[in-house]
Amino acid sequence: MKNKTTLDANAAKKLLQTNWGIKADLSALPSERDINFKAVGDKTYVLKIYTEVNATLKASLNFQNKVLNFLRDNSIHCAPAVIGAKKNKTLIPISKSSYARLLSFHDGVAWGNAATHSGEEIEQLGRLIATVDKKLASLKITQTEKNSLNAPFMWNMLQAGKILNWSGKIEDQELRKLVEKALTNFQKNIVPELKKLPKQVIHNDGNDYNIIVGSETLSLIDFGDMIYAPKIVGAAVAAAYVGLKSEDPVKEIATFVRGYHSINPLSLDELSIFLELVKVRLASSVANAALQRGNNPGNEYLSISQNDVPRTLKLIDAFDKNFAIFRLRNAIGFEANPNAKAIRDFLLTVKPANILKKSFNDLKRVYINWSFDNPEIPRSTSAIEDLMAKTGADVTIGYYCENRNVYQGEAFKPEAASARTFHLGVDIGMPAGTEVFAPLDGVIEVFNNNSTHLDYGPVVILRHKTDTGINFWTLYGHLSIDSMPNWKIGKEIKAGELVGRMGKEEENVGWPPHTHFQLLTDLCGMGIDIYGVAPRDEVALWRGISLNPNLILSIPNGTDAHAKISPESIRSERRVVISQNLSLNFKKPINIVSGSGAYLFDEKGKSYLDLVNNVAHVGHGHPRVVAAAAAQMSVLNTNTRYLHQSVVEYGKALTSTMPDPLSVIFFVNSGSEANDLAIRLARAHTKAKAVVALRHGYHGHTQSVVEISPYKFLGKGGQGAASHVGVAELPDLFRGKFTGKNATDKYIENLKKTIKGLKQPLSAFFAESIVSTAGQIVLPDGYLAAAYKLVRSNGGVCVSDEVQIGMGRVGDKFWGFELHGVVPDIVTLGKPLGNGHPLAAVVTTPEIAASFNNGMEYFNTFGGNPVSAAIGQAVLEVVYDQKLQLNAKNMGEYLRLGVKELGKKYPIISDVRGSGLFIGVEMMIDEKTPATKEVADLMEFALAKGVLLSCDGPDNNVLKIKPPLVITKSDVDLLLTVLSDWLAKK
Ligand code: PMP
Repeated sequence: MKNKTTLDANAAKKLLQTNWGIKADLSALPSERDINFKAVGDKTYVLKIYTEVNATLKASLNFQNKVLNFLRDNSIHCAPAVIGAKKNKTLIPISKSSYARLLSFHDGVAWGNAATHSGEEIEQLGRLIATVDKKLASLKITQTEKNSLNAPFMWNMLQAGKILNWSGKIEDQELRKLVEKALTNFQKNIVPELKKLPKQVIHNDGNDYNIIVGSETLSLIDFGDMIYAPKIVGAAVAAAYVGLKSEDPVKEIATFVRGYHSINPLSLDELSIFLELVKVRLASSVANAALQRGNNPGNEYLSISQNDVPRTLKLIDAFDKNFAIFRLRNAIGFEANPNAKAIRDFLLTVKPANILKKSFNDLKRVYINWSFDNPEIPRSTSAIEDLMAKTGADVTIGYYCENRNVYQGEAFKPEAASARTFHLGVDIGMPAGTEVFAPLDGVIEVFNNNSTHLDYGPVVILRHKTDTGINFWTLYGHLSIDSMPNWKIGKEIKAGELVGRMGKEEENVGWPPHTHFQLLTDLCGMGIDIYGVAPRDEVALWRGISLNPNLILSIPNGTDAHAKISPESIRSERRVVISQNLSLNFKKPINIVSGSGAYLFDEKGKSYLDLVNNVAHVGHGHPRVVAAAAAQMSVLNTNTRYLHQSVVEYGKALTSTMPDPLSVIFFVNSGSEANDLAIRLARAHTKAKAVVALRHGYHGHTQSVVEISPYKFLGKGGQGAASHVGVAELPDLFRGKFTGKNATDKYIENLKKTIKGLKQPLSAFFAESIVSTAGQIVLPDGYLAAAYKLVRSNGGVCVSDEVQIGMGRVGDKFWGFELHGVVPDIVTLGKPLGNGHPLAAVVTTPEIAASFNNGMEYFNTFGGNPVSAAIGQAVLEVVYDQKLQLNAKNMGEYLRLGVKELGKKYPIISDVRGSGLFIGVEMMIDEKTPATKEVADLMEFALAKGVLLSCDGPDNNVLKIKPPLVITKSDVDLLLTVLSDWLAKK
């Protein structure tokens, strides 16, 4: 490294100006190999100087530039951009063997410099590495590039076996052995597995000083160590560093894996070798540091993480192998223990013996709530005796997966995210001395008197086997001291034989007499100390290890408390359990736990005015709707194969809201299903197939309706128009293709052309009267009338999609199409009908219904069931009885007026449109620039103030306002105040 000092900041400054034309102040950055400067000019950059550049290094630098440009070209911004110098050069020669290169600077602190990292941050890191890997998998490289990526390199894990050549330099003998064990195992068992996996270019150096933590984003820097290897190798490299400061690195690694997997899925085969790869990276780090320390005694950078690395390697090596796999499986959304299913399946087919003298069916039971929510837990023996006497109960039951505040000691600190508070057993309480029997044949695995205050006291674990020979365990805590002489490790206990007796408070170390009964699929290497209470941030993991004991107990009313987990845990679970293309609103998604009227409430009780949900048409949790649902549910729920008064009555009530001849109804379960059926009706009637829909329109999520939804098939991930579909221009008079005089005629002309251009005869024309996903576009006067005429003259039928806007929402009329004085042939209904219950419908004419009745039966399992009908009827009556259509009209007018008033002062409000409570506010920076970012900012601002808004339109610059119809003037005033505050602060 003798050239390291050859270029000082002044010379570098000059270099930057001459070659890039950038004036900047320079300061040195630490580096292992290069000379790096931070350059602060118009923007901030990193100037990298390479000395002693040979042909190999030059090729590598050019390849790095290729990769970084590739990532940028593919919209990946979490890696540095290469800044081209004059004449677009990216590598500038300084001397015969030195070159310079300029990259964008990513502001923030190095991951390794931040004291702690939340689970969310660690997942984010996993997603970062996965995002880069996923994209790099499609990078095309030449054979020469591949060769150089495979060249001998001490940080190429695929060559880690060679490290055994210098592992002897590790002075600490215990550590050396550990390193050699990891590397030998790698050579023997892991390399063959790696050979089966596809290779790609990987970053290969996500160490804690190459991850930059910015205010909201993470970035990955230093692409100098790229290799050609399976993606899992790069993931393991990054994962090796996330647990460096943790006492429980496997937990942090599993969290990383969850993040990684949510973007770039890992297979179980990959997971099975993951921790070994992590160990190899840590082992390589120890060995390479020992080697380099020998060569460069003064270089601090080389030993940067050398305190934590050996400690982490030891911790991972000592960690129980099964438990590690459980954590990784749980991280990717699988049930933690792969044996859990077989154990559950076995228990579902056997009848265990009673654990008490009698079956729970024959005992009067009282449940005791031991959770945080109960301020008056009957904590003492006498309080429990009183409760049992008062209720006449024979036995008390304490729940599984209840969140409890009663555990004490270091491991149970209630304020910590990882506090152990989730009870994993079922508590069975009876007087001291009550006999407890084995429910299944078993063998004593282990026992002890855990005599620390508030532990178990005498506790025993039995091992059992399924019919296929899989082990599982039952645990009995809080027994009596006199139970213990009966216990011997390996002793067989048959089903129905005595295990022990419930202990007194003083012998079971401080609890009222009961036994804690737990069903375990593994002991996770913890033996008798296996968790009886799970960390609250790992509830899902433990549910997959310690199953609900009611699989054995069969207590008729159940034993699972389903205690609430934190929003952070819900979000993390959701990433792997629920498909990732179900998106969430807001940067920090909110956890909504209840609703009332136009308001929603999160888990902390914070209220939000809901201006988004047009499904909760008559208000969240409307008591009449809830009562109607519960009443009908408790009497009967069947299907339309039997006569039922309410289905017919509700059908008639709904069709009566429509003009003649719309008189025949089909009940379905969703808007998509309604539109799918509308397509079938139209085809049956017209014997034709083609459909015309409006640009940016949306009609649902099933295959047939995605095909008629330009919003989807012309949007991200869309496949373009199918051969039977035509797209007519959206008649948007504000920013559409045609504006100004005669625009409507031009749109009709365009529709004519679209129909003419169809590859097959027209069957149907689908449109909403206010096109929601297009940005609440109100169709111009006369458009629908002319369009319907045109469609019909071409043999098609006209479908009005009222899924969003129907049922009085538009104020002046009950249905949107009525605003235009037209009568469709088919009307599809959805969202508001059931106020949140999945209820949708299609209404059509007797002629079309008759065409559809061609012999093929139409049966819909749930459509038209009595519960849905009762709910629909109640919603309809509430709309009538509470005069909600009028409220929609009045509140809508008041709201639009208020926003228009603000628009006079703030030109960003460029169009306020809609009808009743279906409103769009279009925001523009100037005539040509949609205020996309600003609208996103407004939504976050409003969220903080307790107002929920959404946006839509092709540029996402139109605020959508479509609240429950019960909003009041003061609710509208709240919105106007929030809007005005936001406008004023901008
Ligand atoms: N049509 C329109 C106009 C819609 O907005 C939607 C849903 N957003 C649908 C149909 C599909 O309804 P669902 O999600 O109930 O299937």
